[in-house]
Amino acid sequence: MRKERIAFTPTEIKTFFYCPRLYFFELYLRKKPSVKRRIRMALGSFYHVLERYISILEGREAEKTVSIEFGGYILTGRMDAFEVREQEVVIHEYKSSKGPREGAWLSDYMQALTYAFIIIRKRRGKARIELHYRARTVNFDVDSDSVELLLRALSDMYLIKKYGILPDPNPTPRKCAKCPYRDICEGMSVDGALASWVKEISPVQKPQTTGSSL
Ligand code: SF4
Repeated sequence: MRKERIAFTPTEIKTFFYCPRLYFFELYLRKKPSVKRRIRMALGSFYHVLERYISILEGREAEKTVSIEFGGYILTGRMDAFEVREQEVVIHEYKSSKGPREGAWLSDYMQALTYAFIIIRKRRGKARIELHYRARTVNFDVDSDSVELLLRALSDMYLIKKYGILPDPNPTPRKCAKCPYRDICEGMSVDGALASWVKEISPVQKPQTTGSSL
């Protein structure tokens, strides 16, 4: 029997890799963000608008929506910017945060990788990622291990979104301290939760090629 198709965005992928349980809460509880968070989001949007204009001035195409359907999934999202360099598509993802000391946060990387995956499936060509944090850029080639991680995540996200299955959390003191669902999360029983493998993966993704400093 054909699997019902469910739509996912790269932002959802990012949230899942940040914390699978937070992804569940955002889907089903969707609390109104705090004032502090809304201010941070507004500043982030402003930063993105600036980066978009800079990208256009530098000859890149900005804010392009891309989409693919495969298996039981529809992946749709809007890339911050991209350009074609020597048969290769370079995906640019802008972050208003500083990022980790080296490499990139796994969640940011997987978000950008989802765009690269869509491009590769659509064009049957090569794609590369440039993740731009506030003060530095990290470059990544797309490797098969990361694509496997993405497909594994989609398989879990399908269960969460279609059947409402609660996943295990991926807690750290830093993340949980600012999580709006902390009280609910801490009071939940873990019996029957979808086992999380995300917490076994390093939260920092190291680049395969050298990043450039601004
Ligand atoms: S409290 Fe921590 S573990 Fe629970 S959903 Fe929030 S970030 Fe995840």
